[in-house]
Amino acid sequence: MKYHIAVIKGDGIGPEVIDEAVKVLQAVGTRYGHSFQYTYLKAGGDAIDACGQCLPEETVQKAKESDAVLLGAVGGPKWDSLPGAERPERALLGLRKALGLFANLRPAIMFDALKDACPLKPEKVAGGLDLLVVRELTGGIYFGERGTKETADMGLAAYDVEQYSEKEVERIAEIAFQMAMKRNKKVTSVDKANVLESSRLWRKTVARVAEKYPQVTLENFYVDNAAMQLVYDPKQFDVLVTSNIFGDILSDEASMITGSIGMLPSASLAEGAFGMYEPVHGSAPDIAGTGKANPIAAILSAGMLLRYTLGLTTEADAIEQAVKDVLKEGWRTADIAQADSKAASTAEMGSLIAEKIR
Ligand code: NAD
Repeated sequence: MKYHIAVIKGDGIGPEVIDEAVKVLQAVGTRYGHSFQYTYLKAGGDAIDACGQCLPEETVQKAKESDAVLLGAVGGPKWDSLPGAERPERALLGLRKALGLFANLRPAIMFDALKDACPLKPEKVAGGLDLLVVRELTGGIYFGERGTKETADMGLAAYDVEQYSEKEVERIAEIAFQMAMKRNKKVTSVDKANVLESSRLWRKTVARVAEKYPQVTLENFYVDNAAMQLVYDPKQFDVLVTSNIFGDILSDEASMITGSIGMLPSASLAEGAFGMYEPVHGSAPDIAGTGKANPIAAILSAGMLLRYTLGLTTEADAIEQAVKDVLKEGWRTADIAQADSKAASTAEMGSLIAEKIR
């Protein structure tokens, strides 16, 4: 089969880690007989330097024409003095909006070989950890009405409105239940229904969607309890589904449990199979160009692309297995190095994983 992938390398370590993800995709192509065609596009600082804007129209158009987008990271000190609306990071919001990416999937997987990097006590994560945070990405307080107003006796006030419609909740809940069906069949919906009206609608709507999935167990957690349980007993979770702001916070908390930021992939999905895939980390300007960047987050993001957009489960499994095998052999990039590990540069790590797949 022939697949069209739009590739946005971005800034800092973005190009370095994406080159390795493409190397691994090529190995998948060779082993399983697929042809991946790449269209390289500009966004972020790279695009500002080339044409003066962080998200050129051509990038949006070509991304829309592709099967999926693979993105490195954008931003860096070179562009930090630009006004907010012109900064490289605005390209991400623009892409999410233009591509209709409403569901953000962040798996928090702890690899057995890296269990020492976990900040929790070993018994809390014995046997590994594998949970998935499904975050609503285009609604809620980050996109609600906002403003400031003078109050009678308390000075200036500012407000941001949290609003969710049934449709918005339904479609994110659908994603969560579909994911749970392919995993351990448990969904934890996180809200603040004891206080917020929007959370009460959220909870009611999720319960309605759950009726379509009788094999999946649904439980509801208040967000404060979810935050606590994530560090107390993370293994109880399979799929967590939540709003934009709660998901923003909980997905970072879940990531930390697994150890290194250089290991964490993510997917942002639109209606249908289209998605944008990117490592959770940023452009890490402090290590750009040094060969120290860990490419595994980008490589696992390419694996998610195969799994969720292209439906290539065996191939995605092969990437994850290759990562596990290489780690088990003791290879480490600098960020996850241990006393007795074997050092690998960004490119060497990519080659080791690609070689395992081939
Ligand atoms: P960062 O994730 O880039 O870096 C945080 C720390 O983690 C740094 O010490 C870095 O060296 C390390 N790190 C990150 N990725 C790594 C990897 N793959 N291997 C080894 N070490 C890694 O976050 P930051 O420093 O807050 O942000 C740097 C720039 O990236 C900023 O301009 C920020 O706006 C941007 N950013 C972009 C995205 C994105 O494009 N999605 C996300 C976050 C931050």
